[in-house]
Amino acid sequence: MIVIRKLKQIYSSCQKYKNAGKRIGFVATMGTLHPGHLSLIKKARKENDIVIVSIFVNPSQFAPSEDFKKYPRNLKKDIVLCKKEGADIIFAPEAKEMYPAGYRTFVDVSELSQCLCGKSRPMHFRGVATVVLKLFNLVQPDTAYFGQKDAQQAVIIKKMVADLNVPVLIKVMPIVREGDGLAMSSRNRYLSPEERDEAVVLSRALKEAKMMIKQGERNTDIIIQRMRGIIMRKKIAKIDYISIVYLDGLNMVSAISDKCLIALAVHIGKTRLIDNAIIDLKKNG
Ligand code: AMP
Repeated sequence: MIVIRKLKQIYSSCQKYKNAGKRIGFVATMGTLHPGHLSLIKKARKENDIVIVSIFVNPSQFAPSEDFKKYPRNLKKDIVLCKKEGADIIFAPEAKEMYPAGYRTFVDVSELSQCLCGKSRPMHFRGVATVVLKLFNLVQPDTAYFGQKDAQQAVIIKKMVADLNVPVLIKVMPIVREGDGLAMSSRNRYLSPEERDEAVVLSRALKEAKMMIKQGERNTDIIIQRMRGIIMRKKIAKIDYISIVYLDGLNMVSAISDKCLIALAVHIGKTRLIDNAIIDLKKNG
């Protein structure tokens, strides 16, 4: 496995693989890898000749008030983990080469980027879509693997790829959770031991919602109210949003039907956590 830092070098290496007819699988990350990330790398390893993992804490997706500076970074450990999973290349570019002075171009997947997490993070998905498109252009993967953990991100990337005719297949993999249900996230390390215990309330609220739906509840207001009640019992938790939306267009759903997404963001102390569940009535209603 090699680590590449330069844009020219990743592009020419990938070109070489493509010309040799190799299938390239790609996983984009911000590093500090955990089993959620590793599940994507494992899947990519199974399905491709060459596996490329990018590690880049992308400044354009953080607002000035957010945690860009303190976001955890641990390239040494990430290299060990990627090697163990059989990745071929880590691409870890420098921000000043990704966004040189005078950089001006951004990708805006409108509407999908303004709802849910986009309401409290208005520029976030513009940064995400931009960096992912840049990475796709450099790596030219056949398939790129994303996590359901960031459900809105996955919807936005799929839409961007469709709208801009980017020749890559997007696969979305299930959320990897801790034993008690907390969705794994690099940001979980910000939590104090007490906050870590309380953070399980997100997945607990989702579990309750799924149970209600299984028992026949279809009114989304009632489901959301119950979820709010569960979360608000925790003093340390402050709800950003709880929404039930259609999976494709992310429009609000009033009565549960077919495929929808229950998504929420909650501040546990100073840490903003997200989680979600897909409801597929045909499968598990
Ligand atoms: P990040 O490093 O947070 O940008 O995440 C990189 C990729 O890993 C994204 O596609 C995430 O959705 C995915 N990911 C992060 N956490 C998890 C998780 N707990 N389970 C599955 N995928 C995840």
